[in-house]
Amino acid sequence: MQKRRTFIKKSGLALGGLSVLPHLAFKSNFQKQKLGVCLVGLGNYSENLLAPALQLTEHCELRGIVTGSPEKIPMWQRKHGISDGNVYNYDNMEGIANNADIDVIYIVLPTGLHSEYAIKAADTGKHVWCEKPMAKTAEECQAIINACTKNRVKLAIGYRMQHEPNTRKIIEWSKTKPFGAIEKVRADVGWNISNPPNTWRMDAELGGGLIYDVGVYCINALRYTTGMEPLTVTAHHENTRPKVYKEVEETTLFNLDFPNGIRTSGKTTAAENINILRTECQNGWYELSPFQAYRGVKGKASDGTFLNTYIENQQARQMDDDALAIMENRPLMVPGVEGMKDIVIVEAINESARKGETIKIA
Ligand code: NAD
Repeated sequence: MQKRRTFIKKSGLALGGLSVLPHLAFKSNFQKQKLGVCLVGLGNYSENLLAPALQLTEHCELRGIVTGSPEKIPMWQRKHGISDGNVYNYDNMEGIANNADIDVIYIVLPTGLHSEYAIKAADTGKHVWCEKPMAKTAEECQAIINACTKNRVKLAIGYRMQHEPNTRKIIEWSKTKPFGAIEKVRADVGWNISNPPNTWRMDAELGGGLIYDVGVYCINALRYTTGMEPLTVTAHHENTRPKVYKEVEETTLFNLDFPNGIRTSGKTTAAENINILRTECQNGWYELSPFQAYRGVKGKASDGTFLNTYIENQQARQMDDDALAIMENRPLMVPGVEGMKDIVIVEAINESARKGETIKIA
């Protein structure tokens, strides 16, 4: 396992010297057919999900990469036709400011590095897409938002579920309430991971831990299902494998209480296969199961309605939605503040678990 500093040192990528550069002002009248996207961090999600999805998009094109692993560059250039001038490392990515091919910089790094690189991205004057969870702390989230505001660029968080059509129906029902008032919601996601690999996801400094990686889906779902913000949280962590989960939690259980007496619960775990978002209302219920998956999100309601609209690729839908919003200068579906609200709750969950008491959410 490499700590952030060691990794940067080993990669020969000592930072510093990245100043706030003159940047392009936000363009509201984009004339381009497609936005040029530059991926920062070429790990599993970039290689196996985002890059293939970019090939399916109508409004985006993969045009640049930022990597600290030179050995990955030839494959990426060959496979995606990326020119030499559009290949950057963490030390020279400020140069993207002068690259007209690139319109959006997409941060796909370990969570603990999101704020540092999202801020550097914003300072190039390009729009910023940042993977979930947005950052480790609300303070870091706010710093990203401030950098994007200062540079007059748009910021979207990679919550693909909010672009998925069955999830959109749940979001619509939070407003239309076809089954009457919402009374109770449960959002649980977990996998039984018998031998978790020793990566940054097990490293607290780099933003590891289930509550960050997967728990934010539950928190986000409880917020979009109710259409409200929680008032209080009560939480605890469980760890059946302390020799494996040394720095980060294995399981987190939490209750979020919302206005109007709506009670909700969430669970995220590496010890059990679960994946359900269930809403109990005054006159019925509805659920999605799985509600957090790359494919096959589906569900049903108490009146026999099926929620099973199919889309080919969630990431392509997400990136096209975000690209169109930028090109047409419309609000993004999942702006930075959405990511920050979840991290405020993650911090309250951790505080509640630590103190063993209910915490008020600011
Ligand atoms: P990964 O471990 O596969 O890739 C991480 C990349 O970051 C690697 O290329 C690695 O070389 C690079 N890196 C740079 N500095 C590093 C450091 N100090 N330590 C370790 N790696 C370093 O991770 P991933 O699964 O691709 O996740 C990346 C981001 O994408 C995370 O924020 C994660 O939450 C997010 N993600 C989102 C989804 C989704 O469905 N939206 C799915 C998976 C991952």
